Amino acid sequence: MSARILLTDFEYFEPETISDVITFLAKHRKDTKLIAGGTDLLVDMKKGRIKSKFLVNLMKIPNLSYVTDDGGGLRIGATTTFRKIEESQLIKEKYPLLFEAAQAMGTVQIRNMATIGGNICNALPSADIPPALVALDAKAKIVGKSGERFLPLEEFFVGIRKTTLKSDELLTEVHIQSPPARSGTAFLRISRTASDLATLNVAVRVTLENNGACKTARVVVGGGVGPTLIRSRRAETLLEGKVLEESHIENAAQAASEELKPRPTSIRASPFYKIEVSKVLVKRALMKALDRAKRSKKSIS
Ligand SMILES: Cc1cc2nc3c(=O)[nH]c(=O)nc-3n(C[C@H](O)[C@H](O)[C@H](O)COP(=O)(O)OP(=O)(O)OC[C@H]3O[C@@H](n4cnc5c(N)ncnc54)[C@H](O)[C@@H]3O)c2cc1C
Repeated sequence: MSARILLTDFEYFEPETISDVITFLAKHRKDTKLIAGGTDLLVDMKKGRIKSKFLVNLMKIPNLSYVTDDGGGLRIGATTTFRKIEESQLIKEKYPLLFEAAQAMGTVQIRNMATIGGNICNALPSADIPPALVALDAKAKIVGKSGERFLPLEEFFVGIRKTTLKSDELLTEVHIQSPPARSGTAFLRISRTASDLATLNVAVRVTLENNGACKTARVVVGGGVGPTLIRSRRAETLLEGKVLEESHIENAAQAASEELKPRPTSIRASPFYKIEVSKVLVKRALMKALDRAKRSKKSIS
């Protein structure tokens, strides 16, 4: 990319409350772009992909960056950086899938700036956090002039850089229920270099019954394997209800790979490569999650 600054003129605002943002968005809607860490947006503005009359910075809103255990689950404010997430003892201990995904993302410099809200709202199919959040059945809290709504994150993504967020709404929080007892998770990722976007990423969860059978499974594949991440319900169905052996896991990995639709124009890898490697990554992730579920008693590991 060129080092020239190509930004067009815009007016810049730093509201201090969410309601100020909502009022601003209600008035200026499509002329406004929200900015958090700016690690996606500024690149897009520089490339001329995004032009905006008004830029509204969310980082000055004091109560939008937090990691809280609310008893029943985890609440993360939209402007929480990945550095804060990977440094949270609560997340490391109780939500290791999120910890692993956050730690795998970008470089320390990027993680210092990048926010969870920005990663979700930018809706790149290769983003690292959405697969982990979908595997944890996370919900997005969205607020706008007409009030607030909660949406399963899986329903939030509708295409490449496309979400169900309306132009007068913002994401304020991510909510994750405490995973059930006897759950195990794993996040695996490959990329050309450590600081590159994922060529492929996989987030899985396995929850076991007391008799050892798989009660629920989540298998989510990202990394440009379709216009959005892909949750493979076929793979999940092949796992649920069974006392899992390696052959069940191989069948599930095969099923997940058959649901992928990678773009032939990807600069990172061919569709053939992504589909073949997905079988290996899904299998490895499920084996790891199953092992962790067997060793876990009450909380997720
Ligand atoms: C060198 C480099 C390496 C990277 N590596 C990775 C990687 O390994 N994995 C990965 O997943 N990503 C990676 N990224 C992409 C990027 O860092 C992440 O997507 C990041 O989380 C975006 O967050 P941000 O706060 O910087 O968002 P911003 O750039 O500020 O915003 C991104 C988009 O989201 C919107 N937005 C932000 N917050 C909100 C909100 N609360 N409500 C509504 N809309 C909002 C903005 O309007 C904008 O459209 C990389 C980027 C760079 C430059």
